[in-house]
Amino acid sequence: MTLPIATQWYTSTKIDDDTTLILEPHVHVLEQANMFLVEGSERDMILDTGMGIVPLKPYLDTFRSNPDKDIICVSSHTHIDHIGCVHEFETRLVHPAEADEMASPSGLSSLYRDDIPASLLQTFLDAGYPPIDELLIDALPFAGYDPKSYVLRGAPATGLLNEGDVVDLGNHQYSVLHLPGHSPGGIGLFEASSGVLFGADAIYDGPLIYEGPGMSVPDYLKTFEKLKALDVSMVHGGHDPSFGSVRMHEIIAKYEAIWST
Ligand SMILES: [Zn+2]
Repeated sequence: MTLPIATQWYTSTKIDDDTTLILEPHVHVLEQANMFLVEGSERDMILDTGMGIVPLKPYLDTFRSNPDKDIICVSSHTHIDHIGCVHEFETRLVHPAEADEMASPSGLSSLYRDDIPASLLQTFLDAGYPPIDELLIDALPFAGYDPKSYVLRGAPATGLLNEGDVVDLGNHQYSVLHLPGHSPGGIGLFEASSGVLFGADAIYDGPLIYEGPGMSVPDYLKTFEKLKALDVSMVHGGHDPSFGSVRMHEIIAKYEAIWST
């Protein structure tokens, strides 16, 4: 199979004064996670780092208003589509339940469909995702790129984030929420002053994934109780477009109904 060469690997969209959404449009939607850059008065934050096919930090530095400013890398959890470029950042934060996994990833580390466990592929199909061709990418990042050379590197955490900790960017203060269910150490970030929630893979407006290694519906139900208690104005999920409070409650109600039958 001959793939075209991508003209650019990442796209960025400014979603508010300080926040930019970064995507990898040539990655199959199944593993195409949202990355969020928040530029703070004291330091910047990148929440999640994609697949790691192409270096991320040099790309961010092309448009950060001050590329010399410190940047904190927060991993919402350690699935392949969220920690690909974590090793590029000096400050790397994750929940303790997934620190070992981030240091040496044990899960999927391939761009080939045939390397994805059949049960996991079926979970994705059942959840409503489109099927995958041979590869998780539909273009090469540059001429001569060999998809077989792909590895998920990971990197040891330089600090841990527990429930109630604060990620301080100066003019933005995000409280850490432990949101297990999709993964044991999944975290979200909530800014009480604005009502902005980064929900990561605990909540987004697409098929939620809750059957697989490290996943738990009972944990997910407790996570939903935590989310329902928040006064949110805007939710930026780990996948798919952002949404407001009404939609968040609709999504939660839908899955609570599915899981109660
Ligand atoms: Zn995930």
